[in-house]
Amino acid sequence: MHDANSRELYDRALSVLPGGVNSPVRAVRPYPFFVERGDGAHVVDADGNKYVDYVMGYGPLLLGHGLPQEVESRIQSQLSDGPMYGAPTEVEVELAEFIARHVQSVEMLRFVNSGTEATTSAVRLARGYTGRDKIVVMQGGYHGAQESTLVEGKSGGVGSPSSDGIPRAFAEETITVPFNDERAVREVFEERGDEIAAVLTEPILGNCASVGPVEGYLDSLREITDDHGALLILDEVMTGFRVGGLQCAQGKFGVTPDITTFAKVIGGGFPVGAVGGPAEIMESFTPTGDVFQAGTYSGHPLSLTAGLEMLRYAAENDVYDHLSDLGDRLRSGLTDILEDEAPRYTVTGYDSMFKVVFTRDGPRDLSGQCDAGCRQDPDCPRFDYCPKNKADVDAAETERWERLFWPAMREEGVFLTANQYESQFLSYAHTEEDVEETLEAYKNAL
Ligand code: PLP
Repeated sequence: MHDANSRELYDRALSVLPGGVNSPVRAVRPYPFFVERGDGAHVVDADGNKYVDYVMGYGPLLLGHGLPQEVESRIQSQLSDGPMYGAPTEVEVELAEFIARHVQSVEMLRFVNSGTEATTSAVRLARGYTGRDKIVVMQGGYHGAQESTLVEGKSGGVGSPSSDGIPRAFAEETITVPFNDERAVREVFEERGDEIAAVLTEPILGNCASVGPVEGYLDSLREITDDHGALLILDEVMTGFRVGGLQCAQGKFGVTPDITTFAKVIGGGFPVGAVGGPAEIMESFTPTGDVFQAGTYSGHPLSLTAGLEMLRYAAENDVYDHLSDLGDRLRSGLTDILEDEAPRYTVTGYDSMFKVVFTRDGPRDLSGQCDAGCRQDPDCPRFDYCPKNKADVDAAETERWERLFWPAMREEGVFLTANQYESQFLSYAHTEEDVEETLEAYKNAL
């Protein structure tokens, strides 16, 4: 495998970009490859090496790298009309109507420019709407590079910043609990329920190895927040229009949040974010309400055109069926391989998300592995062995992923996300042949 060009680019990058990258997850060891172009389900690097791509831009690229002709020509046509205006455009209304039509908890939306901006605005909205300051988040959850959620701490206790540069006072407004632990949330609410503005959670811990909710867990969050006058914010930045098809993960798991955050897929590969919910809450945003929210690029016509056209394409074609069929094929193929090669490892994921977790020596007996069809189904005989929260994933051999597994898979021509925690994604461009090739690569690497 040639790598001279990527190495040289990385050397140059190290002089002008901190760590050589613009988002830390890209700084894989010993050096990242630089991408020259995408091609369907593949990326080609600066040295001409081609990889089957399961990073897919960390989630946005539902259709892969090549856009269908009609999607591409609408984006080109918007570009030739000028990139942006600072005044409303029809596409903002159209995309909002599309999302509100399909996602049952959403009546109105405010478009922003990233997932981080969406979750930041959602937390401010919940605080403004309820008049309370505290929020509850999940250990191992990720809601972007924002002050209120870059927090760690003991279950139910006052949080402390997980990054330098965040005032302790910010983190003290955030309470962390383990995912899938209903009792921990009940205890927090019993102690200080009238101070809590919202519980903020991903439906699936997409940045913690695709760990999903056990039966009834999301329902219990709904019930507890309702009982205490707090809001439930579902962060669907990663899962929105990827898991559960057009109804999103909230449709799949049958939970109705007060506020939903979106990003990734709804921008069709361009920067975007959105906050959605019922008019009663959403109209607390300025200009109708007093929760300040604004942005020069918000509702950017290029991003929204790309997102709308991609979603329309998905609605009119067999995109979601193809993705879940391939996902099932990949996960069950991986499960078979693990049974033979590495029986202590586990496959996680839903629909087009997947991950292999090197569970070993966990806090519980993790000597089994999750069946590909299980994924937090209590009837599954291996239910107890599925990772349920961050502690379970932390107990996995996370270091082995970066030291051995990622480079080995790269050598095999498969591009995976950079560490044990980040989810991986199929796209509509992936084929059964890609999946077969990938299974062979996993077999060799394991
Ligand atoms: N929320 C979730 C669930 C995410 O997965 C991410 C990013 O991966 C974010 C928020 C932050 O989104 P962005 O990187 O667009 O700011």
